[in-house]
Amino acid sequence: MKSLFLITLLIIAISTHNYAQEFARYFTDGSLRVDYMHTANDKIEIISLDELYHEPYWGGSQINLIDTFNYGNYKIEVIDSNSNTLIYSRGYSSLCAEWIFTPEAKTTSRSFSESVVMPFPKNKVKILFYKRQKNQTWQSIFQLIVDPKSYSIIPQQKTKIKSFNIHNSGKSSEKLDLVILAEGYTEGEMQKFMNDAIRFKDTLLSWKPFKQYVNQLNFWVVPTPSPESGTDIPGEGVFVNTIFDSHFYTFGTERYLNTTNNVAVRNAASNAPYDQIYILVNTAKYGGAGIYNYYSICTADHPNSGFVFAHEFGHAFAGLADEYYTSEVAVDGIYDLSVEPWEPNISTLVNFDQKWKALVTPQTPVPTPASETNKNIVGAFEGGGYLAKGIFRPSLDCSMKSIIHNQFCPVCSKAIQDRIKFYLH
Ligand SMILES: [Zn+2]
Repeated sequence: MKSLFLITLLIIAISTHNYAQEFARYFTDGSLRVDYMHTANDKIEIISLDELYHEPYWGGSQINLIDTFNYGNYKIEVIDSNSNTLIYSRGYSSLCAEWIFTPEAKTTSRSFSESVVMPFPKNKVKILFYKRQKNQTWQSIFQLIVDPKSYSIIPQQKTKIKSFNIHNSGKSSEKLDLVILAEGYTEGEMQKFMNDAIRFKDTLLSWKPFKQYVNQLNFWVVPTPSPESGTDIPGEGVFVNTIFDSHFYTFGTERYLNTTNNVAVRNAASNAPYDQIYILVNTAKYGGAGIYNYYSICTADHPNSGFVFAHEFGHAFAGLADEYYTSEVAVDGIYDLSVEPWEPNISTLVNFDQKWKALVTPQTPVPTPASETNKNIVGAFEGGGYLAKGIFRPSLDCSMKSIIHNQFCPVCSKAIQDRIKFYLH
């Protein structure tokens, strides 16, 4: 028995050693950040290179380098040129992907700054960019060769600010790391920012399923000062000078709070090892946004800000869709009802086996009537993804449906847990 235990220990030691060797074979310290412009209208999308940076930290796993989720509207694949091996991949979405579905995109083109980040490669790499098509297949839209020895890679950080750890569970490569950035806080309001960040950290860690993983998450804060306090409210003629230029009324929707100053956001985030960026905005007005593997943003002082914080993180971290369908949104026609959407918590029932059917008991009718008796079961309730018909959600209610609902449904909870586990190796 004892020898079996020793052999098991030895096997674990050898495999850990191999993973470390494998990572060191392709990557070195820090991360490679690729900034690019994403220009689009409702018909075409063009990616063009902006800048390359060698940043000081890599916050992600050194083992789980290949994306296994297949979420997001875009993905990158990184190929090691020497061995022609896929060494890194990641799915993500962006504000541009949403803008394409607004009326404005039918009559004009726009450019958005975006970034992808990966562990810094040792050898020359080819980075392939893909866009998800309506039928859910991937289309190649851009590729780039990066020589890690090139002097065109900027080695200095453009915004150097000391980050602070407000919740430490261990090594960044084995934990999920969130970095919280200050937006619309002046120098004199930095203590308020620290208090606000700790309050939201505590809220998220009190929320299921995150509370089971209190010792698996790291929280960092970057106290980025703004010249002025608050954020822009264009619909009311309010414009203030802040570090990330955040604003309400994105695409004409008052509560939709975003920033298009991606370079400033990424420059600030580079001060900590991170897997997810959270921008905390110093205002009491209601609003926020969360975009998969892009960022989360919410306001600090609205009475419902704690709920919004968790809801937006559901989008940005776990790729969860909105399960509501009655509120006004700026986008139209995002979901093609003839295929399954990529988000794990909505279904067109075109291929329900692919989705959460395994969590539905055989006695539960599909579609599931929205009745009081079905309040606490997993089924397929019609209405979700901004559509009252043709899209189904797993539960009668969920934090992704009603902002003031203090619970993710079982399907959203499982999606969040699967994502957390991906970072814990
Ligand atoms: Zn849900």
